[in-house]
Order: sequence, then structure tokens, then C-alpha cells
Amino acid sequence: MSDLKVDGWTVEKLHDHHAQALRESRVLYDSETEHQRLRVFENGTFGRVLTLDDVVQTTEGDNFIYHEMLTHVPILAHGAAKRVCIIGGGDGGMAREVLKHASVEHVTMVEIDAGVVEFSKEYLPKLSQGAFDDARLNLVIADGAQFIRETEGGFDVIIVDSTDPVGPGEVLFTDTFYGHAKRALSEGGILVTQNGVPFLQGEELTNTMRAFKALFSDATCYLATVPTYAGGPMAFGWGTDSAARDVALSELQQRFDNSALAPEYYTPEVHKAAFALPGYVAKLMP
Ligand code: SAM
Repeated sequence: MSDLKVDGWTVEKLHDHHAQALRESRVLYDSETEHQRLRVFENGTFGRVLTLDDVVQTTEGDNFIYHEMLTHVPILAHGAAKRVCIIGGGDGGMAREVLKHASVEHVTMVEIDAGVVEFSKEYLPKLSQGAFDDARLNLVIADGAQFIRETEGGFDVIIVDSTDPVGPGEVLFTDTFYGHAKRALSEGGILVTQNGVPFLQGEELTNTMRAFKALFSDATCYLATVPTYAGGPMAFGWGTDSAARDVALSELQQRFDNSALAPEYYTPEVHKAAFALPGYVAKLMP
């Protein structure tokens, strides 16, 4: 598999027995940053695509699904989130969606790789849509694990928008990191994490859920299908000591109606349904 190459295509070989290929109509950028290989290319279906170490991170075409579900679900379930922390998120898409919430007064975004932020601003402006210029955003260039260990915290929502558990992202999938993240939450705070595609990365989800169950009274995951994260629905880890997951649909609808959100994927019904787990995913829960 390691020698699989097709001219004019980016081949993502994230898994031992599965790969996906995206046609490159134009390569806009290809270089090594201090931490990883960063590429931006254009694809006829998905628009501009960002890869790190040849793994798709985000695309102009389908990023709305991932970013809306990792922001609106915890923020609307919380109901009064003022302080939000994003770990990773260098393309700016997560900050874009968080900052749409009028209740949010302050966002701390901790990205390890300044190169991702700079190149995303230049080559993927549709991702951040000006979020980096919002006065409520404090961008910290640092390892998210180290930051969360040292911060005073007090975050109502922590969103882990990381790469997969290889390279610099590995540390963000450890029990130690999750423990520090829990300590950095305010009372009733919610931790959400990108946890890969369970059909192909089941062990990753099981490991995170084992750690969450030891830390939180409510530990589970919810799902959304993002076309370029191949292999079926993607899992988002959910950990909290509050009853935020049980918010009634009518209350969620009211919070949504009171917000200025006009999402393309998120609806209150989708929010509630996303926590329904198919049998094969439920089996991965420890
Ligand atoms: N949505 C993508 C996915 O599911 O694969 C990931 C998005 S991308 C914005 C993830 C970001 O996490 C990258 O910019 C990467 O540099 C950053 N990152 C990786 N390890 C990190 C760490 N230890 N601390 C902070 N940021 C990290």
C-alpha cells in the first residue's frame, strides 16, 4: 500500500487496507512546515482541499458538516456557553462556526502549527471567513496538550479539532490529555473530540470512550457523515458531567430559533438523532 501512487491524484493511505483518491486539478501549495507536510490543491467536486502528511483535513465543499456538528451540538446543548477552547483547528473553520454564537464572549484556539494558520488564511479564506480577525478570538501557537495542562481553564466547551492520532495529534488522544481537559472545563462544561471513522478506526473510538467513561458521568459519541472522511459516519466524542445531552427537542429548537444561525447541515432534529448509535458503533463502546 505504501507505494500506491496515481499521477494527478492525491492518494490518502490512512488505513492498512483502505485508501481514497482525490483528483488534483491544480496544486496550489506543497511544502514541509516545521511539523508536517502541508498541501493545498483543487478538486472538481470538493473545491480546495487541505492535506497534512497526505491525510485530508478539510475541503471547501464538505467542511460545513464537520464544523457545524462539532460546534453547534455542544454550544446549543450547553445553552449559555461564553468561553470556548478549540484545540487544533488551524484552518479556521471551527472558529468560524463558534463565533456565530452571540453568547460566546471569548474563544481560545490552540494550534501547534503556525504554518497551517498562515496558509489557510491565504489559500483557504472560505474556511475561516474572517474568523481570525474577530476580536473575541485569541490564537495561541502551542501544543494543545501542554496548553491544556497549564491553563487555568474555565471553558464551557472544549472542542478538539485535531489530526488523527499519528504525528503531533497523537498526544491529543491520551488519557492524560483528556484528564487535563476535564479539569479545564467549567461546571457543566462539555468536551467534544474528533474521533475518526468508527468502521475503520474503531480502536481509536474505544480508547477515547474508555477514558471518557472514567472521567465523565455522561460519556458517549455522536455521528455525522462527511464525504471526504471515507468509510462511513464519523464519530465525535462527547464528555460532560451535565445533563446537556437530555435537553428537550422543543428547548433546543427555541435556542436555535433565538440564534442567528443558518446552517447547511445542523438542525435540532439532526442534533438529537446524531446520538443514536448503530449496533456496530454501540459495540465499540466499552
Ligand atoms: N478535521 C480534520 C480531521 O478530522 O482530520 C482535522 C482538522 S486540522 C485543522 C487539525 C489541526 O490540528 C491541524 O492544523 C494540526 O496542525 C493541529 N494539531 C495537531 N496536533 C496538535 C497538537 N498537539 N496541538 C495543537 N494542534 C494540533
